[in-house]
Amino acid sequence: MTDSQELDELRLETLKEALHRETMAEVRAIFLEAHQYDQAQMYQLLTPEERMILYRFLSPKELAEMFEIIEEDEKDVKSYLNEMDDRYVSLMLTEMFADNAVDLLKEMDVKEVRKYLRLMSAEDRATIQRLYYYGEDTAGSLMTPELIAIQSHQTVKSALTLIKELAHDAETIYYIYVVDEGQHLEGVLSLRDAIMSNDDTMVYDIMVDHVVTVDVNDDQMTAARKVQDYDFIALPVVDEENRIVGIITVDDVMDVLQEEASSEYSGLAAVDVESGAETTNPFEAAVKRLPWLITLLFLGMGTSSLISRYENLIAKASILSVFVTLITGTAGNAGTQSLAVAVRRLSGDDMDNDHFISIMLRELLTGLLTGLATGLTITLVVGIWQNNFMLGAIIGAAMLAAITVATLAGSFIPQLMEKIGVDPAVASGPFISTLSDLTSVLIYFSIASYFIASFLDK
Ligand code: ATP
Ligand code: MG
Repeated sequence: MTDSQELDELRLETLKEALHRETMAEVRAIFLEAHQYDQAQMYQLLTPEERMILYRFLSPKELAEMFEIIEEDEKDVKSYLNEMDDRYVSLMLTEMFADNAVDLLKEMDVKEVRKYLRLMSAEDRATIQRLYYYGEDTAGSLMTPELIAIQSHQTVKSALTLIKELAHDAETIYYIYVVDEGQHLEGVLSLRDAIMSNDDTMVYDIMVDHVVTVDVNDDQMTAARKVQDYDFIALPVVDEENRIVGIITVDDVMDVLQEEASSEYSGLAAVDVESGAETTNPFEAAVKRLPWLITLLFLGMGTSSLISRYENLIAKASILSVFVTLITGTAGNAGTQSLAVAVRRLSGDDMDNDHFISIMLRELLTGLLTGLATGLTITLVVGIWQNNFMLGAIIGAAMLAAITVATLAGSFIPQLMEKIGVDPAVASGPFISTLSDLTSVLIYFSIASYFIASFLDK
């Protein structure tokens, strides 16, 4: 165990004791001197009874800072808010940056959301409501309206005074946006630019006029990519008339990129990793995974019944059955490889907007090349090992065809899903490999019957 872990445990123990003794000063001291992240770790390890005492000793504002962090863990948020007094929750929400408050509210039932909103001031309610109703996955739903905006016709000195006043309520103070009277975005400067200029320099002289922005209704991925590409700490969000309505900060971007990465992974495993990771209940986990296993079971039975239709062929040349799993397995692997690449590309930059046909041609060539190399290898190995080059050629040819088909399917199916708007998890790895089992078996036995009919039976 590391020292810091020991320290954390010690701190948690002292906190729990102080809570049991109900000594307010001590509880506050231990809790408030910890970083928000550490506060959240401790908070989540308390019993409901201990948390109730904590709510008595800390103001909604003090707890709000910690909830800015907890919001990302989601799973227990609902029960936390439910155990608090409604008024306490609504005060806490108004103390938070609006985007994080909205993230919390999205975890709650509509009825509860209404209840909390009713307890807020009209102004706070309006801010939160506006964000709450932006379409899911839009830049608008990711942004926060707490930003620093100043006007250009003033000196750096007066701007810095203003920034000092506005700093408390802004999510980040590093970028200062310059707007006209109608909130239209005219420029931006960094705090560094401001601090390094002379006091009497005019803001419009040092601001950057070509501001990179994102539209409120743009996809959140577009916004995330821009922040990533330009290395900004925050990105301004504008409406149709170029009025600044919010900023998207880099911490929100990291969440989006992570979500994107795990949904890619879900696609490869036929299980929703995002929500699957949350449940520790084996029963729940089983319920989530079973539908796919059962579906795949039926698809797999298709393969089995296909094999049984070639009983005659297998009876004639029983050695054929030895190589079934080798061919289906290798083709399945090839399909999964091309699937991984396709899923990546689909969720990737819109910039390399390759044409469908050219992608398929490329995959066809890749499939043929890998199939040829693998097929030749297996032809030689089986030919020498079994001293039967006829058998080697059958397996090699089947391998070539099966790999080519699986590679094409691995690329084609996710693209098709995307086009017709079906859940991409349907194009998952297990699905592709089960499907490729079916086609591989069909290919293998068709080739084998053809060879045997045209060479052996004569
Ligand atoms: P530098 O990297 O030059 O040392 P910095 O570290 O102070 O600058 P960065 O975050 O790297 O700040 O931002 C670089 C520059 O980009 C700053 O001058 C800032 O004004 C500008 N900038 C910030 N946001 C935007 C935007 N949305 N569009 C265009 N420029 C922006
Ligand atoms: Mg920089």
